Amino acid sequence: MKLGLFSGRKKYATISVSSTEQKEQPKKSETVKEDKDIDRCQLWDKCPSCNEIIYIKDVKENHEICPKCGHYFKMSARDRIKLLIDEGTFKELDAKVTASNPLNFPGYTEKLRSAKEKSDMTDAVISGTGNMNGIPVSIGVMDFSFMGGSMGAVVGEKLTRAIERGIENKTPVVIVSTSGGARMHEGIYSLMQMAKTSAALDRLREVRMPFISIPVNPTTGGITASFAMLGDVIVTEPKALIGFAGPRVIEQTIKQKLPEGFQMSEFLLEHGMVDIIAKREDLKEAVSKVIKNLING
Ligand SMILES: [Zn+2]
Repeated sequence: MKLGLFSGRKKYATISVSSTEQKEQPKKSETVKEDKDIDRCQLWDKCPSCNEIIYIKDVKENHEICPKCGHYFKMSARDRIKLLIDEGTFKELDAKVTASNPLNFPGYTEKLRSAKEKSDMTDAVISGTGNMNGIPVSIGVMDFSFMGGSMGAVVGEKLTRAIERGIENKTPVVIVSTSGGARMHEGIYSLMQMAKTSAALDRLREVRMPFISIPVNPTTGGITASFAMLGDVIVTEPKALIGFAGPRVIEQTIKQKLPEGFQMSEFLLEHGMVDIIAKREDLKEAVSKVIKNLING
């Protein structure tokens, strides 16, 4: 009797929830389409932008750009380093720094283990030194595939050390960021990294060495709210989403429709938030030219 009552209620509730979800789906579809990446375990996949079938090897050889429509896929930190740093000059540092679970957050240890197993990284950033068209730089590159590029204590520490290397060796600092924001599994420890990285950049300024920030698609949350927007020069790629909160959250909060292209790199360039948009294949040239002008000027 009791069981019958329960199953009756459950059925009613399920129908009403699923019908609400269905109504909301059209609103979400655009963002989901933008965020979708190709399956790299397959030989072929469909481009989420042009819907054409693409050969994954062609995408990899084309700097992770769709050969049919020019859509930019997410690039791994290692590929980014190959793209930006002169061959044979990159020296990885702090490679063994790894996160603990300071708050004993349920499931975090397992999530970290699984992210490490899926990648050849211990956390969402790779850092070290190398030359960019012959100029020695200290570099840090984030990887979105490692827990959404979230910044916990390890990401903050490795980036701070990268900035400090710039201070000690008197070299420019380059950071490529892509992130969903702070890593909430580490609570206040992750939020502290925003202040730590920003304070380190202030010390870099004292030795008059430039910081080139390269936020790429997507860069949001605590990363945008800290070091990513503190670059002496901010360089990005076409159609990159860079912002603090997502457009849907802002629309719901301010109850206004946002302008076309809001938070995309072209919009941000027009409004003075970023300085240069460079195509992926021109990124190294653009950044090294900026650095050359800043250190010789
Ligand atoms: Zn395409």
